[in-house]
Amino acid sequence: MASLTPTLDPHQLATALGAHHLIDGVLVPGTQTFEVYNPATMDVIAQAAAGDAAVVEQAVESARRAQSAWSATKARDRGKAVARCGALLEAHSEELGLLTALETGKALRTESRVEANVLADCFVYFGGLASELTGETIPFSPDVLTFTIREPVGVVGGIIPWNAPLLLMALKVAPALVAGNTVVIKASEEAPFGVLRVAQIMQQALPPGVFNLIVGDGPGCGAALAEHPGVDKLTFTGSVAAGRSVYRAAAEKLVPVTLELGGKSPMIIMGDADLDKAVAGAIGGMRFTRQGQSCTAASRMFVHRSLVETFVQQLTEQVDKMVMGDPLDEATDIGTIISRRQYDRVKSYIALGEQLCEDVEGAKAWTCSALPTDPKLADGLFVRPVIFTGLDNNTRVAREEIFGPVTMVIPFDSFEEVLELANDSEYGLAATIWTQDLNTAMRAVHRLEAGFVQVNQNLVVQPMLSYGGVKISGLGKEASLASMLEHFTHKKTVLINMA
Ligand code: NAD
Repeated sequence: MASLTPTLDPHQLATALGAHHLIDGVLVPGTQTFEVYNPATMDVIAQAAAGDAAVVEQAVESARRAQSAWSATKARDRGKAVARCGALLEAHSEELGLLTALETGKALRTESRVEANVLADCFVYFGGLASELTGETIPFSPDVLTFTIREPVGVVGGIIPWNAPLLLMALKVAPALVAGNTVVIKASEEAPFGVLRVAQIMQQALPPGVFNLIVGDGPGCGAALAEHPGVDKLTFTGSVAAGRSVYRAAAEKLVPVTLELGGKSPMIIMGDADLDKAVAGAIGGMRFTRQGQSCTAASRMFVHRSLVETFVQQLTEQVDKMVMGDPLDEATDIGTIISRRQYDRVKSYIALGEQLCEDVEGAKAWTCSALPTDPKLADGLFVRPVIFTGLDNNTRVAREEIFGPVTMVIPFDSFEEVLELANDSEYGLAATIWTQDLNTAMRAVHRLEAGFVQVNQNLVVQPMLSYGGVKISGLGKEASLASMLEHFTHKKTVLINMA
């Protein structure tokens, strides 16, 4: 069984955590298991538990038992417990970074360590918001004292993906707990160990049953959690297809739901943009260091025709210099794709784009960076980043979310034209515009159909900023005080007749 002492050997830690769920404060062995692979070598890391409807039942029962005492705990005390989770997680951040790099293939230095640090910060941030769970008084009548109070929703069921498992779990768990809910999270079957370790560490600061974590697949375990009648609120991050199925389950039960889904985010580089900054922003925004496995990836880059040639030259030169290699190696910039299934999917889109390039005059696939040469990585799921030029916004490469290191540069001539192109997508998660002109920036800010818009920068989600999409990118927001109040509490209106 995994000890609570921080350990810097992620293989040993994954084996010790092994095939467990975390239910009612303790690690519970799974009756069925499956193998989790290291995507950099395709060696088995360890067995994980394969949860089913019976495990969901156990976890939801545990959360229900813990609910009334937790919601009756003083808000500030709940906040202190959640902030303490942040401090405990901070003490384990290097360990969590290493474990995340091992199981997801995201490079330690550029991605996994950064995520582990933000994880702790997220708990500290939400822990400090407990005293903001306030209602309001309403001037309804002098004889009737009228006010609202905020109450927890009850048991929250959360389902998370693998691409930033620690952070995306924290954005659900921390606010839900502070607001007085108890929680069951279903981890992604592709990255179960880091979040299981987080759940184990957090038990030191929480009463049993307040936070439960189960591992299992989507159609079995995830669907059972979504459909469980004891779950009062659903919060989901993942693909549009699975999000629709969770939405249907919520509709059937008539419970509230938050959906954080995919994206095909535009990056607009106007003719007056600072090109060096825009190129750096393109590399960061496309999350090449995460193999492009980001919902906000700048996967459609619209560049003013006057800058296209220089932009593509600088971008490809810089991506070429990025080092692809062992995710645990400090020298590595870019790690691997998470799974064989995802690898095949990304490769099929690259093949499709390359085929289109053959058919379109002047179109080109710029394939950058070099595959690692270390023989121990020979079976690893490495994909060289590809930047397509000469393909238009109507191709499947431009319209469908690839979730890999594939982007495209599309030229434009006018502001009106580029706004139309940027908004011509089913998705609406994030968007950026790069310009020196405030007027242009503000006109774009108002018209871009996206939930998270930035000018001259390309940051990822941050605690305190409401984050979430429009169109098929999702419903509702996460990461902020406003989202905690809106999505993890009910407002009760109270009238006291004093006449
Ligand atoms: P996915 O939808 O395949 O899986 C996400 C989670 O849902 C996993 O835990 C999976 O087991 C579960 N699941 C799958 N089918 C289910 C079902 N029918 N019922 C209940 N649960 C089910 O997505 P993924 O491949 O893990 O992640 C990639 C996707 O996530 C991309 O589309 C990406 O854009 C999206 N994403 C969105 C955000 C955001 O904040 N908007 C952040 C990260 C990832």
